[in-house]
Amino acid sequence: MTETVKITVDQRFVTQYYEGYQHIPGSLSTALESVTEEGIYLDLMTPEGLFIARGYYGHQNKGYGWVFTRDQSVYLTVEWLRKLFSDAIGKRQRLFHDDETTAFRLFNGEGDGLGGVTIDLYNDCALIQWYSAGIYAHRDNILDAIEAVYPLKAIYHKKRFKEGGKYIDADDFVRGERVDFPILVKENGVLFNVDLNDGPMTGVFLDQREVRQRIKEAYSHGKTVLNAFSYTGAFSVYAALGGADKTTSVDLAKRSLPMTIAQFSVNGIDFEAQDIRVMDVFNYFDYALKKQLSYDVVILDPPSFARSKKRVFSVQKDYVTLLEQALQVTTKEGVIVASTNYSGFDMKKFKQFIKRAFHNQHATYKILETHAQPEDFPFDRTFKESNYLKVVFIQKLN
Ligand code: SAH
Repeated sequence: MTETVKITVDQRFVTQYYEGYQHIPGSLSTALESVTEEGIYLDLMTPEGLFIARGYYGHQNKGYGWVFTRDQSVYLTVEWLRKLFSDAIGKRQRLFHDDETTAFRLFNGEGDGLGGVTIDLYNDCALIQWYSAGIYAHRDNILDAIEAVYPLKAIYHKKRFKEGGKYIDADDFVRGERVDFPILVKENGVLFNVDLNDGPMTGVFLDQREVRQRIKEAYSHGKTVLNAFSYTGAFSVYAALGGADKTTSVDLAKRSLPMTIAQFSVNGIDFEAQDIRVMDVFNYFDYALKKQLSYDVVILDPPSFARSKKRVFSVQKDYVTLLEQALQVTTKEGVIVASTNYSGFDMKKFKQFIKRAFHNQHATYKILETHAQPEDFPFDRTFKESNYLKVVFIQKLN
């Protein structure tokens, strides 16, 4: 049985937890400093000694764990977790019944009531991501519970926390029957090659499903599309299927080339009619300017941080510059799809970046649509960082 430690919380936090706050910040109590064992239960108590809520201890970024119940009889048992996962499945019935989509998020951490762990479904395979050693300490019950509520062929996982200073696991297979990757999954009828046992990424970012669909149905027909930071070319595939005249995919990683070719090919698109470039996006902008190339649609979906040979890119510091460069290769009345999954700023701040970039370039614009996380990525309303995805479709007016 996992140990339980009582933590007296400062009065200013008491109401917050009564109202459903789940995150446990370091500032909650100096008593957290003396807890050393990941996974231990934390009973949050009022200064008067009354029980408020129970969480577990798990270091995750700046956090110290997550509250999961306000019922003193509840622990992370298989029985309780089964109910938690069944509820999550219940909320996603539309997706479970959508024959055209076989890959989506089944459980989204704090957005579904237990922070630190997510579960994605890729056909009949699950991918579990563990964000702290603390939640990983409870893995057996979590695995038993998910297996009990949903028939799975295999479970793979990614550890998103450091063990001995490192992240890397050579083999991500956990339970079930080993799978021959890549497998093909469907999303809105579009096919993707996916590999759950090949490094930190799987081939597709599931949270952009609706954005991809909007690009296909409303922004691609007869257009030239530049997909910057294209990875496996998911946006390009949707654009091509939506009738784009041509797509150009740009990514620094050498592997993006064969992966993008494969994604086009499984969808019956002639990849040779598309442009796929392995290069730094910023160099590509210089090249496009020199050649006077411009695009009707420019998709910007950079990683939050990236280190290339020449520079360190950070969304926080460099998004305005990125937008300014993109603007110079966007046609008049063209559309920039600006995206970021950086949780350190919100939509309001992102829109300020957009405003600043257009202002600097003496351009005017109109916001056509904005997107946040889709229904299978619910966020915790009391913890704004969990509402990380921001996508804005911006039309350049002059
Ligand atoms: N838009 C993609 C996901 C992008 S992931 C999708 O929809 O699937 C971020 C990608 O940016 C990675 O593939 C990484 O190789 C690439 N990248 C990082 N820095 C880059 C740079 N300076 N130029 C080009 N690509 C870069």
